[in-house]
Amino acid sequence: MEFCNLKAQYAEYQVEIDAAISKVLKESRYINGPEVSELESALTAFVGSQAIACANGTDALQLALMALDIGPGDEVITTPFTFIATAEMIALVGATPVFVDIKEDDFNMNPELIEAKITSNTKAIIAVSLYGQVSDMDEINVIAEKHNLTVIEDAAQSFGATYKGNRSCNLSRIATTSFFPAKPLGCYGDGGAVFTNDKELEEKVRCLRNHGQVKRYHHGLVGINSRLDTLQAAVLIVKLKYYEKEITQRQTNAAYYSELLNTKVQTPGVMEDKASVWAQYTIRVENRDQIQSALSEANIPSAVHYPMPLHLQECFANLGGKKGDFPIAEKVSRQVMSLPMSAHLTEDEQDLVAQTLKGQP
Ligand SMILES: *Cc1c(COP(=O)(O)O)cnc(C)c1O
Repeated sequence: MEFCNLKAQYAEYQVEIDAAISKVLKESRYINGPEVSELESALTAFVGSQAIACANGTDALQLALMALDIGPGDEVITTPFTFIATAEMIALVGATPVFVDIKEDDFNMNPELIEAKITSNTKAIIAVSLYGQVSDMDEINVIAEKHNLTVIEDAAQSFGATYKGNRSCNLSRIATTSFFPAKPLGCYGDGGAVFTNDKELEEKVRCLRNHGQVKRYHHGLVGINSRLDTLQAAVLIVKLKYYEKEITQRQTNAAYYSELLNTKVQTPGVMEDKASVWAQYTIRVENRDQIQSALSEANIPSAVHYPMPLHLQECFANLGGKKGDFPIAEKVSRQVMSLPMSAHLTEDEQDLVAQTLKGQP
C-alpha cells in the first residue's frame, strides 16, 4: 500500500500530463515559460487571491516575510506544532519565532493564547493550517488588526480547503502554499506559491523571487532565485483541473476512515464552518510504536507529523524553549500518527488499515 498513491494518480492523468511535459520539452522554455503565468491565472481563479508561483513552500514563506520587511529585531508569532519550515524561515530572515500552544481539537494555533505573546516587536502571525484544515482565521485576523500585525497563512497543507465558504490562501493579507509531491496538490518535484490581494505586496514578491530584478539586469531589491520551473507548472495545470474532484474523494476517504475507526482510536475532527482537504488523516493513540509496527508488518505505511515540537528542536535552543512550555503540542506530538491518504486510496485498503488497527490492544 502507498502512503500517498502518486502512481495511481499519474496513471489516471498520464495522457494529459505526458502531453503537457512533452510540449514544454519541445518548446524548451524551461524558465518563465508560458505555462507559469497560465498556472498563476488558474490558481488565482481557484483561490480568489492573486497567485505568484515560486520554487517551493519554504521559499514562499521566505518571500512573504521578505516582502513584509520582517528581519532582525522583529518577532513573529506561530505554532510549535508544524513542519520546521514555518519557524525556520522566521529565523532565516533574522527575526525571532515566538510560539503559542495549539488547540487539542484541530491541532492549530490557539487564538486565545496569542495576545499574551504580543510585544512592541511583534510584526506578524503565521497561522499554519495543519493537516489540511485552516486555523481560526476570523479570531486571528481580529487580534492582528487590533495590534496592527500582518497575518500570513502557511497553507502548505491546506490548498483548496475552505473556511465559511472562502478558500484557504484567501483568508488573510498574504498566504503561502507548497506543491511538494505529497501535498494535497503536488507537482513532480518542488513547487510553491504566494497569494495576496495587496497589489504592492504582489509586485514585491514577484520582484524578490527573481533576484529583485525590476528590468533585465537592473536590481531594485536584494532577492532570491525562486522561480517555478515551467515543467512543474505544466504538470500542475493538468492536476488542478481534477483537484476539486480529488478533494471530494479525499473527504469521502476521510469520512470512511472515521466511520471504521471512531470506536477504536481518537479520529480527527473537522470544525464548524471548515472543510479540510485532508493533507493527512491523523489519529491519536497511546501505544503509537506498537501500532506502527503492527501496521508495518501488514505492509501498511504510516508516519508521524510531527514527533518533536519546534520549541524543543536543537536549532532553536537559543530561544530557550523547554519541556512543559507548550503542554498540548508536547502531548499530541507523542500521540499522533497519520494513516495512508490520497484520492486514490481504495476502500479495500482502508478496510485493511482498520482491521489491522482493530487487532491491536
Ligand atoms: C511542506 C510544508 C512547508 C514547506 O514546503 P516545501 O515545498 O517542502 O518547501 C511549509 N510549511 C508546512 C506547514 C508544510 O507542511
